[in-house]
Amino acid sequence: MASLVIQDLHASIGDKPIVKGLSLTINSGEVHAIMGPNGTGKSTLAKVIAGHPDYTVTGGNVLLDGKSVLEQEADERARAGLFLAFQYPSEIPGVSIANFLRAAVQARMAEGEEIDATAYYKRLYSKMDMLKIDRKFTSRAVNEGFSGGEKKRCEILQMAMLEPKFALMDETDSGLDIDALRIVSDGVNTLRGPGLGVLLITHYQRLLNHIVPDFVHVMYDGRIVKSGDKSLALELESKGYDWVRKEFAPAAA
Ligand code: ADP
Ligand code: MG
Repeated sequence: MASLVIQDLHASIGDKPIVKGLSLTINSGEVHAIMGPNGTGKSTLAKVIAGHPDYTVTGGNVLLDGKSVLEQEADERARAGLFLAFQYPSEIPGVSIANFLRAAVQARMAEGEEIDATAYYKRLYSKMDMLKIDRKFTSRAVNEGFSGGEKKRCEILQMAMLEPKFALMDETDSGLDIDALRIVSDGVNTLRGPGLGVLLITHYQRLLNHIVPDFVHVMYDGRIVKSGDKSLALELESKGYDWVRKEFAPAAA
C-alpha cells in the first residue's frame, strides 16, 4: 500500500508564508477532500506537493512511500507516482490528445524504454471505453476550443493513462459547470480503488455529493483546522465558512 505523508509543511511564495504547518496522511484507496475559504492556501498546497518551482518549502516534509520528494523536480515526482490535475491547462494547438498523452506516458518511462505504438493505443482505447469517452475525442488538439467539460475529460483521461499512486485534484470554483462536474465525478468514481489515493480540493460541497470522500478536512490560514468524515462537508455547506474564520482567526492578525 502506498502512502503520501505531509508532515508539518511550511511553504512560501517569495517571503510570504502561505502553508503554515500542515500535516496530512493519505493512503492508497482513500479519497480526502480539502475544503476552505478562498485564499487559505489550498491551491498552493497542491502545487507545493507536486513540485511547482514558484514555491519555497521552508519547513516540514512530504514523503511518498516513506521517501522525501522535496529534493525532486516536478517531473521526478510525477514519475514517482504523483499526479497534479491541471498541470497543462493551456492550449497546445496542432498537438492531438492522443499524441500528447503518448508523450506524457513516454516521459514517465525509464530512460531507453520506448512505447510500443500498438500496445499504447490498445491501452488508450481501453481506458477510453472504461471512461465512456468517444474515440473521436483523442484526435482533437489539446484544450483548443475546449469547453470546461472537455478539459476535464482530457484531464481525467490523462490521469487514467498515467496511473498515478496519488492524484491531486484542484477543482477551482470556475469552470465546474454541471457537465464538467459530472465528468470529474464519474471519472474519479471510475478510477478510485485500492491502487489510487486522491486529494480533492474543492470550494464546493456540491462536488462531494457525487464523489463521496472518506475524509474531509477544513483548511484555513495555511493549516488544517478540522477533519472529519463526509458529514463535515454537509456541515460546511449549511454553516458556510464564517464560523471557521471566527474560531480559527490567526491571533494578533
Ligand atoms: P486557495 O486555493 O485556498 O484559494 P491559494 O493557494 O490560491 O488559495 O492562495 C493562497 C494565498 O497565496 C493568497 O493570499 C494568494 O493571494 C497568495 N498567492 C497565491 N499564488 C501567488 C503568487 N503566485 N504570488 C503571490 N501570491 C500568491
Ligand atoms: Mg485555489
